[in-house]
Amino acid sequence: MSKLLVLNAGSSSLKFKVFGLQPFAAGIGGMFDRIGDGANCTLKASAPPHAAGAQGRKWEQKCFAKDHVSAMQNILDFIKDNVSGAFVREVVAVGHRIVHGLDISEPVLLNDKTIDQIRAAAVLAPLHNPPGLQGIEAAAKVFQGVPQVAVFDTAFHQSMPPHAFMYGLPYELYEQHRIRRYGFHGTSHKYLVEQAAVMLGKPVSETNVITCHLGNGSSISAVRGGRCVDTSMGMTPLEGLLMGTRCGDLDPAVVLFMQKQLNLSVKDTDTLLNKKSGLLGLTGSNDLRSVLAGAAAGEPRAALGLAMFVYRVRKYIGAYMAALEGQVDAVVFSAGIGENSPAVRALILEPLRGMGLDLDAAANEAVLRGHRGDIGAPSSRARLLVVPTDEELCIAEQTLQVVGFKPSEQPTAQ
Ligand code: AMP
Repeated sequence: MSKLLVLNAGSSSLKFKVFGLQPFAAGIGGMFDRIGDGANCTLKASAPPHAAGAQGRKWEQKCFAKDHVSAMQNILDFIKDNVSGAFVREVVAVGHRIVHGLDISEPVLLNDKTIDQIRAAAVLAPLHNPPGLQGIEAAAKVFQGVPQVAVFDTAFHQSMPPHAFMYGLPYELYEQHRIRRYGFHGTSHKYLVEQAAVMLGKPVSETNVITCHLGNGSSISAVRGGRCVDTSMGMTPLEGLLMGTRCGDLDPAVVLFMQKQLNLSVKDTDTLLNKKSGLLGLTGSNDLRSVLAGAAAGEPRAALGLAMFVYRVRKYIGAYMAALEGQVDAVVFSAGIGENSPAVRALILEPLRGMGLDLDAAANEAVLRGHRGDIGAPSSRARLLVVPTDEELCIAEQTLQVVGFKPSEQPTAQ
């Protein structure tokens, strides 16, 4: 039975998901976490409800992996024991999530040249691309001769026009150092646009939407005719919305001031902006559930963090309605916060009635976790949609397109 493996390597983690291809359906998936952390390494996995022989089963076990290659070996042993003893021989392709692809706009088949391009892009994504390369190396060792494909977080945003992707800096910095806006979460935004088109009953090429991926990392995109025309993240995933631990939009002079006044090094500044700011820096927690609980209990900082998060999302929705010249078919909510919190969706959308976005309060409350739904009132000038994101499915589909493998049936989203 042919299978596809999707890998998503972080600095100390390796996420995986197996897809069956006859028919095309998501199978077991999970994450190897704390790679290199001795006895603390964990392998967690779960099977989807429809998985033959393992319906909805969950696993958690302690493992040991000194690097991504040994994490990969642990994952394979686990799959061999729990899915199929012949797994390694059944895999027809491996798809990798790679964060930064510079100006690459499509998924690519991995070879020496494309691996070099990913290495080159690591200059702009020093924390993200190197683990991706380790994941590629780990898979190449195990799946010799099996085609591997890289799917880039930045690719979907390559359709942005120069007036949206350029910074107001000397032009030579763009020419010589490629300093520009790239955008991230592209695989998720692409998936949301495609699913919104299905829900709207329109071809993707005629679909204008604002996609809100609201999770620990958050970004919003403006999409015209299925193509991204603007997105809130920039050269790195630091720009834009207030996030779990990232500050989002900030006057660059604040950075200069902090470096001078607080004597911060480049590394300290990077840590402060990426890991100690956002909801964490403001409220003490990067988890929006705790922030909501704190705000409900009357904690002023939690209330402030929540208000800032919500306000900035709303501001971007307004800006992107302008970017799309008012021609918006739908605003789509997704990821941990966007999918699971009717309260936050209501806080974002209620004040936008004046712009014609009419929330249906009952429909908003009724969308069940993990399900899609339309939460707009009939009077709303654009549909308001909730769509659970599925980046692995999107990576799997793009991988199959690159290798030219046609699954026997359409995918089943979970
Ligand atoms: P993600 O990065 O997509 O996994 O999203 C993580 C974020 O989603 C965290 O801030 C969580 O607190 C938030 N989240 C998950 N479930 C809920 C919920 N039911 N209500 C509010 N926020 C949630």
